[in-house]
Amino acid sequence: LAAGEYGPERPGRVIAHYGRTLDVQGDDSAASVRCHLRANLEGLVTGDRITWRAAQDAEGNVVEGVVVARSERDNVLERPDARGQLKPVAANIDQILIVFAVEPAPHPNLIDRYLVAAEATGIAPVLVLNKIDLLPESGGELRALLARYEALGYPVVATTTAREAGLDDLLARLAGRTSVFVGQSGVGKSSLIDRLLPDESLRIGALSKDSRKGTHTTTTARLYRLPSADAAELIDSPGIREFGLMHLDEQQVAEGFIEFRDLLGRCRFRDCRHRQEPGCALLEAVERGEIHPERFASFRHIVDSLNET
Ligand code: GDP
Ligand code: ZN
Repeated sequence: LAAGEYGPERPGRVIAHYGRTLDVQGDDSAASVRCHLRANLEGLVTGDRITWRAAQDAEGNVVEGVVVARSERDNVLERPDARGQLKPVAANIDQILIVFAVEPAPHPNLIDRYLVAAEATGIAPVLVLNKIDLLPESGGELRALLARYEALGYPVVATTTAREAGLDDLLARLAGRTSVFVGQSGVGKSSLIDRLLPDESLRIGALSKDSRKGTHTTTTARLYRLPSADAAELIDSPGIREFGLMHLDEQQVAEGFIEFRDLLGRCRFRDCRHRQEPGCALLEAVERGEIHPERFASFRHIVDSLNET
């Protein structure tokens, strides 16, 4: 292959994008390559699986590339842009880690809000309780809350960045998957990610520590391969961390409560809003103790908050 010529097509992944310039990592290599897009390709996002071709210099080093095709996406994470339009920001994510902390204490309604938003994307949510070093001996309330989510089938991982040990469960959860961290400010997302990504693993062009902590939602999402866990990938950006606060409709909210799903078609009235209608399958399930009253209250609260805006 002569210098400057493009080699054969090969599979890769978008690890960052800046307009029509992308960083691509070949499936068979650790280094990333700056690529441009073939003219007919639009709207690639971090995490996209693509086909690309590499160009080499006279010494045979891959110096740049061109992306020629995008593969079908498993899923996509969207965020509203400045005008409120939903725009994809990352694709092919296996799990959304919803981080909350012993302090500031999680409001159950907020956890449900994140879960509903995650369910709407079709990406599996995982609950991460951080700062367990602050958990009092008598932390029974929080444990009961977590047990409730575990009973619904959600994985729960407890972490602390304040002690050396304690991240093993998180690493085990991350292995073999592509993850994003979301959650309120102050719960410890930056601290966790700093632990997972020691500085030397941050490649050229990676967000600086300061910008990762910033609130510039325009900063591009970036995919990192974690050195500390097997085949673990993390996609991160300030905008992604704020996921969960977007608008949902009433139907999405109801379906986002996974224990409601099988009941939703069973209300007496097709247009039941699950308030005080007779024959409401959800209200009956609450009565029977099959739906936790706090989850139901949370559902009501989220639906009411939609109607306010
Ligand atoms: P973010 O806003 O979610 O990124 O949260 P940060 O990572 O910036 O953390 C917020 C604050 O919580 C900082 O003062 C951290 O030092 C502190 N923090 C983070 N993780 C832990 C933890 O496991 N235990 C304790 N006690 N504090 C933590
Ligand atoms: Zn109903």
